[in-house]
Amino acid sequence: MQAKKGYLFKGRVIDGSLNAPIEQGAVVVEGERIQWVGTAAQLPPQYDERDYDVIALPGRSILPGLIDGHTHISFGESRSEEENALYTPPEFRTLKAMYYAKKVLQAGVTSCFDAATTYNVAQAVRDAIDTGMFEGPRFTVSGKQITNHQGLEDSFPSWMEFPVGQSAVLVKNKDDLIEAIRLQIKEEVDAIKVSGSNDNLITPDALGASAFTLEELKLIADETHRLGRLCSTHARSRDAALDAARAGFDNLFHASYIDEEGIEACLKNKVVITPTLTLLVNLVGANPDNAGASGKSAFQREIEAASENLTRAWKAGVPIIAGSESGWSPVPYGQWHGKEMEIFVDLLGMTPLQAIHANTLAATRLIKRYGNEIGKIEAGRLADLLVVPGDPTKDIRILQFPKRFDYIFKGGKPIDRTPPMPRKRKWYERTKIFLDGLYEFDEETGTGKLTH
Ligand SMILES: [Zn+2]
Repeated sequence: MQAKKGYLFKGRVIDGSLNAPIEQGAVVVEGERIQWVGTAAQLPPQYDERDYDVIALPGRSILPGLIDGHTHISFGESRSEEENALYTPPEFRTLKAMYYAKKVLQAGVTSCFDAATTYNVAQAVRDAIDTGMFEGPRFTVSGKQITNHQGLEDSFPSWMEFPVGQSAVLVKNKDDLIEAIRLQIKEEVDAIKVSGSNDNLITPDALGASAFTLEELKLIADETHRLGRLCSTHARSRDAALDAARAGFDNLFHASYIDEEGIEACLKNKVVITPTLTLLVNLVGANPDNAGASGKSAFQREIEAASENLTRAWKAGVPIIAGSESGWSPVPYGQWHGKEMEIFVDLLGMTPLQAIHANTLAATRLIKRYGNEIGKIEAGRLADLLVVPGDPTKDIRILQFPKRFDYIFKGGKPIDRTPPMPRKRKWYERTKIFLDGLYEFDEETGTGKLTH
C-alpha cells in the first residue's frame, strides 16, 4: 500500500482572519504545513482524496490552533506570591512546567506568549519543545519582569532580600535597566516585559500611577527594539498604559484603566492590548475567602472599568489579543484557555469571529519567533489546526470544551490526547496559609468551628 501524502480536512473553515467562514471548505496538509485551503468544490484534482487521510466528520469546524497571548508556564498554579517566589527549587519547577505544557497543548493551544518566568524556566521549556524532546505548544517567552519598587513584583517587604525565585528582577536606576535587558537577551528571551504598574491586593493604593517614568520607559523600549525584541508591560493603571504607549512599547497587558489619551497613543504607535480578563473574572467567580469582600469587590470594579475602557479602545481600532493568565491557581493550566473569547463577546462587544481572530491571527503580533507561520489557515503556514464540533462563530463557548474537540494538530500531526497522570503536590509547593480562617472554640457545642 502506498503511503498517504498527508491529510485532507473537510468542514466549515474558520481561518483565523476576519474572513467569513467557508461553509463547505477543504484544507490540505502535507508534512508540517498547510498546502491548500478553499471550498471543497474547488479542490484541485491533484489533491485526490484517495491519496490522503480524509477527516470529514459532519457539522465540524476547522480552525487554527489557539494562540494564548498570556501564560506563565513556570508558575505551577501558585496560590500565592510566596509559593511562586520562595520554596520550589528551579529544577522541580522546570519539570512541572513540562508536565503542564502538555496540558496546555491538549486544550487546543498550539502557541503561547509566556509573559514572565521564574528563573529561566520558560526559555528551557520553549527549547525542549522546539527541539522535539517533549510535546507542548510553541512558546515565545519573556524573561523575568523588570520591576522597580513601584512595580507589582516588588511585593516582599523591604527588610528582606529580593527573592531570586521571584518572577522579576529589581532595578534601581537606569544603568540597572539597560543591564537587565541585555542580560535577558543574552539568556535568550524573545521579549522584554516590564512591571509597569502595581496590582490589586499587592498594596492598598495599587492602581494610580506608573512604576517607571516616561523617560525610563523610552529607554527600555529603545534598547529592547535596538536588540530586536518585543517590548511589553504589565500596565493596569491609566498612567502606566499611557506612558508605555507613548514610549513605543509593542504590547500592554491589562490596560484596565486606559483613557482616551492612552487609546490615542496606542493608535499612533501601533500598540496592542492583551487584557487577560479571565483572571479577574475567575477571581470573582472563585469568591476567594482569603481575599475577603474588599478584594472581591476590587476585582469586580476593575472588570467594570476594563469593560468600558477596553470596549472604547477596541471600537477605536486598537487590536485586542486574547490571553488567559494560566499559571496562577485561579487559572489552572489546560482549563480556561477558551474563556477569554467569551468574555470579549460578552464584555467588549466582539462578534465570535472577532474573538476567534483575537485568539489566533491577531495574537501573532506578540509572536516574533514564528513570524507569519502560525495563526491562520493559509497555504504555507504551519498546520496547527483544531477540528471542533458545531460552529464557534454561532456559539463561542464550544472552544472552552477541549475534550470534545475531534482533533488537535500541531505541525501537521495529531497530538497525543492521553491526559497526563494526576500529580500530587510536594510539601514545598506551599503558601504561608496554615488554615484559611480561624478555628474558634464554640462554647455552646464545645467543639471547634471554622470562621472567616
Ligand atoms: Zn501575568
